[in-house]
Amino acid sequence: MSNVADTKLYDILGVSPSASENELKKAYRKLAKEYHPDKNPNAGDKFKEISFAYEVLTNPEKRDMYDRYGEQGLREGGCGGGGMDDIFSHIFGGGLFGFMGGQGRSRNGGRRRGEDMVHPLKVSLEDLYNGKTTKLQLSKNVLCSTCNGQGGKSGAVQKCTACRGRGMRIMIRQLGPGMVQQMQSVCTDCNGEGEVISEKDRCKKCEGKKVIKEVKILEVHVDKGMKHGQKITFGGEADQSPGVEPGDIVLVLQEKEHETYRREGNDLHMTHKIGLVEALCGFHFTLKHLDGRQIVVKYPAGKIIEPGSVRVVRGEGMPQYRNPFEKGDLFIKFDVQFPDNNWLSPEKLKELEDLLPTRADAPVISGDVEEVDLQEFDMSQSSSGGHRREAYNDSSDEEGGHHGPGVQCAHQ
Ligand SMILES: [Zn+2]
Ligand SMILES: [Zn+2]
Repeated sequence: MSNVADTKLYDILGVSPSASENELKKAYRKLAKEYHPDKNPNAGDKFKEISFAYEVLTNPEKRDMYDRYGEQGLREGGCGGGGMDDIFSHIFGGGLFGFMGGQGRSRNGGRRRGEDMVHPLKVSLEDLYNGKTTKLQLSKNVLCSTCNGQGGKSGAVQKCTACRGRGMRIMIRQLGPGMVQQMQSVCTDCNGEGEVISEKDRCKKCEGKKVIKEVKILEVHVDKGMKHGQKITFGGEADQSPGVEPGDIVLVLQEKEHETYRREGNDLHMTHKIGLVEALCGFHFTLKHLDGRQIVVKYPAGKIIEPGSVRVVRGEGMPQYRNPFEKGDLFIKFDVQFPDNNWLSPEKLKELEDLLPTRADAPVISGDVEEVDLQEFDMSQSSSGGHRREAYNDSSDEEGGHHGPGVQCAHQ
């Protein structure tokens, strides 16, 4: 007899699922003494849980439902709803709605719920940094106030005779002897509504449609630090329809690309070009931040920036959502521009060499050698770059590859 769907309520009372009513009573009395709020103020909802379990298990009908179908059996058996939701979620986790889930769930008294209206909302990185309030105009259906969403005078609405109120008609077509095709189509008399309103009784304002279009202006607050894909919800603001609880309007933020900054979480990333002299001898440059501030970024002489390396400015990233005084970091990647060819005369080059760190020792050469020229090569000008790479990856002679057709390409 321990073949039950769920044992949580038995566990709460510390009895087995085969416990007799007497055993349940004993267990309840003992626990109730221990956890009664008067005696044990720190027990939280324990007493409520014990009472709930006892109440269910001593009611033969409820106990039977629970044994057979578990939690769900209780909810459908009428134990859910009302003030019981609280204790339900304590015991079984999740609320009543979590359990029902899915589309079309009801929020009040079993009314069907309309679809949510989802709109993208484009925002700049500046908006997400500074926060912004915008007004959004949209057109939506609202119940006609003249006929209260009835479509006409009370009693004017009649069941469609063509489809007998079903909104659909079934047509049977004879395809051949003994063969018929059954087709279901939307009723044309009532447009699938299942009901019709005679022309004279029809509401003049909505022409019997029950709803009218209305322009609605929503004030949208984009908070500092909000992210791409984040949703801003206006509960119950979607299209209204008779007998249906309106869905929500959901705005989904779409972050526009920024010409300087790229966002990653709360950090900002950017690339900055510097010359060789800055890379070696220090620099400062100004940067316009997303809030319009000019910030001066300084880097001392004697600390070298290698091409492609990254440095960080702490605290100059994006503000954190709901904690905007905390900010991420700003990462700057340096694109070091080397000087052009022949920027220095041979004599000056000699002087430069004296200033630069000394060369590595030349390798010791032994045996036969062959001298080759190293030539200029521009990846972007060789149209067949990708293919050639594959070709010499397959070949065992890697060095031969560098003299391949690509070199000729680069020089035309
Ligand atoms: Zn019809
Ligand atoms: Zn109307």
